Amino acid sequence: MQWIARPRRLNLPEAGGAPKKEKKTSMKKTKDHLRPESRMMSYGYNPALSEGAVKCPIFQTSTFVFRTAEEGKAHFELAYGLRPPKPGEEQGLIYSRLNNPDLEILEDRLTLWDRAEACAVFDSGMSAIATTMMEFLRPGDLVLHSNPLYGGTMHFISEVLGRFGIRSLGFDAEMEEADIARLVEDSGMAERLGMIYIETPGNPTNSITDIEAMRRVANRFSTAEKRVLVAVDNTYLGPVFQHPLAFGADLVLYSATKYIGGHSDLIAGACLGSTELIRRVKTLRTFLGTMAGPWTSWLLLRSLETLKLRMEQQTENAWVVARYLQQHPKVKSIHYLGLLTEADGRSYDIYKKQCLSPGAMVAFEVHGGEKEAFAFLNHLQIMKLAVSLGSTESLAQHPATMTHAGVPPQEREAMHITPGLVRLSIGVENVDDLIWDIEQALEAVKLPRKRGKMAEIAV
Ligand SMILES: *Cc1c(COP(=O)(O)O)cnc(C)c1O
Repeated sequence: MQWIARPRRLNLPEAGGAPKKEKKTSMKKTKDHLRPESRMMSYGYNPALSEGAVKCPIFQTSTFVFRTAEEGKAHFELAYGLRPPKPGEEQGLIYSRLNNPDLEILEDRLTLWDRAEACAVFDSGMSAIATTMMEFLRPGDLVLHSNPLYGGTMHFISEVLGRFGIRSLGFDAEMEEADIARLVEDSGMAERLGMIYIETPGNPTNSITDIEAMRRVANRFSTAEKRVLVAVDNTYLGPVFQHPLAFGADLVLYSATKYIGGHSDLIAGACLGSTELIRRVKTLRTFLGTMAGPWTSWLLLRSLETLKLRMEQQTENAWVVARYLQQHPKVKSIHYLGLLTEADGRSYDIYKKQCLSPGAMVAFEVHGGEKEAFAFLNHLQIMKLAVSLGSTESLAQHPATMTHAGVPPQEREAMHITPGLVRLSIGVENVDDLIWDIEQALEAVKLPRKRGKMAEIAV
C-alpha cells in the first residue's frame, strides 16, 4: 500500500514498560524502542505521500483509480487470494469497503497498545463483536461466556446466534476455574466448545475474570483439529491499562465508542489478534460491510493522540471520587478496582496480575433503592445523565433500569445490580468540581426513615 509505511513490530516494548535493549544502529533505524504514546501522532503515516500534510488527510472517497488495467487486475488477484504477493507487494487500494488509507493507518496504530499483529476496525463495538463471533462459530457450537456481559452482546448471543443454532452457557465472572471447566463438562456440549468470551472488568460492577485461567480452560477443550478461542472485551480498561493477548487471549474486542474515541462523538469498534485470525475477521467484514468509514477512522486517529493522557487523568479523578464515596454515610457499597485489598482474595490477586491501573469506572450503591438512586441522578449538575462511558465528560446512569434493564430481575440481583446501584464514568473535569457535584446530589437523597438503623445513617 503506497500510502502507508508498513509497521515494523520487532522488539516493541511492553506498553508503558521499559524499552528492550537493542544495538544502537538498529534502534536508530526502526524506532521500535518507542512507547506507544510516542507513536500515536504519526505511526503508519508518511507525509511525503500526502503533499507533506503533517496530519493524515480524510480520504473521503468510495473508490480508487487504477493507473492501468494491469494494476487493477493485480490488486484483485491479491484481494481474492488468487496468487501470493510478490516480494514487497502490498494490497493496493480498491474500494472503501475493502480498504481505505484512514482505516488502514488507524488499524496499524491501534495494534501498538495491545502489541497485536493485526487489527480490524468496525463501525460499532457491536459490529466488531457480531462479525467476530459469526466468523468463528458454526451451528451446533457452544460459546461459553462470563456474566454479566454488555446488554447488546448478551442479546446477540442468546437471540441472534441462538437463531443460527449456536448455543451458549454463562458463568459468574468470579467463579473458580475448576468450576467453570466442570460446568462445560456437565453441559454435555464440551466437544462443541468454540469460544470462551469474557468481559473483564465486567460492566457495571467491575467484576474480574482471570484471562490466564480462561486460556487453560480453553486448552483443556481444544483438540489437534480445533483450537478453542479466548476472546476478551477490553472496553473497560483497554487498550492502555490491560493487554489480554499477553495473558493468552486470541482476540481482543473494543467498543471504540468509549475510551478510544473518548469524546462521545462517534460509534466504532475494533478486533485485534494474530494476522491469521484478523485476516478471517476482515474477510467476513468485507461481505457484511461492517467496516468503519474514513470520517470515523480519521476521528479515531485524532483521539488516539490523547488516549493515554485522558485515561490517566480520568483514573486519577476516579480514585478521588471513589475514596470520597467510600466514606460517605449515604453510600452502602462501592465497586472500584482501586479499592480492592488483600481481603478481597482472588479478585485482588487477578487485578494485581492483569491490570495496570484501576481505570475510571466507579459503581456504588446508595442506601435505599431506586427512588434514592434517582434522586441522586436527577440532582447532578455537572455529570450528564446518560449511558456510554469513557468520554472526557463524566456520565452517570442507573444500570437496573437502563443498561441492564433487559436482564431478568433474579439474575440482576445475582450480579449485584441492585435498585440502589449507580454507575459513574469519570471524565477529565476538575476533580474538586466533581466532588462538589456528587456531594450536593447526595444531599438530595432522602433516606427511608422506617427502620431505626436507616434513620441513624441519615445524617
Ligand atoms: C458499549 C459497549 C459495547 C458495544 O459497543 P457499541 O460501540 O455501542 O456498539 C460492547 N461492550 C462493552 C463493554 C461496551 O461498553
